Amino acid sequence: MRNKENIFDALSRSPFRSRFHLDEADVLYVRTKGMETIRRHARDFVSRKLAPASPPNDGRQTPMRGHPVFKAQHACACCCRDCLAKWHRIPKGRELSAEEIDHIVDGILMEWLRKEMGLRAGEEEAAGQCAAIEGASSPTRNDAGKDAAPAVKDPAAVRRAGRAAKGSRSPGAVHPLLPGLKGR
Ligand SMILES: [Zn+2]
Repeated sequence: MRNKENIFDALSRSPFRSRFHLDEADVLYVRTKGMETIRRHARDFVSRKLAPASPPNDGRQTPMRGHPVFKAQHACACCCRDCLAKWHRIPKGRELSAEEIDHIVDGILMEWLRKEMGLRAGEEEAAGQCAAIEGASSPTRNDAGKDAAPAVKDPAAVRRAGRAAKGSRSPGAVHPLLPGLKGR
């Protein structure tokens, strides 16, 4: 069994393995279900479809999509016993041990899923910042509330926010949800 650092390093150098990522539906599914439920699903798939000495349909038991764990399995070469043997040095032809199942589920698949979810959270945070800057320079923002944003009270801050907002309108940095800004 290879250690975690080695295997993630090797996987990152495979164009086939590294092209697997969670899409929006997967991210939503993981958020709705929660990591603990996803972990139970992963354990169930691994125990039923990989752990037996000769799993039925070995080599074709893991669909390419339909569940975030399926993507994790392909991304991490935990999709069939041939891939487990080749990438993780876990021999085929015998049942997986409890330790190997723990390693695959908690050490590999959940680790990949956590990384993917973290990546998506980072992207959304960046988009949120961009939207806040746009909002600060918008006249509709000051809607007579007694808690007006401090940036609106301070003319220098408004100018700074305005410049920042202009900067964010360069092609490529345009917020994907605001396509109308592109032509201005
Ligand atoms: Zn495989």
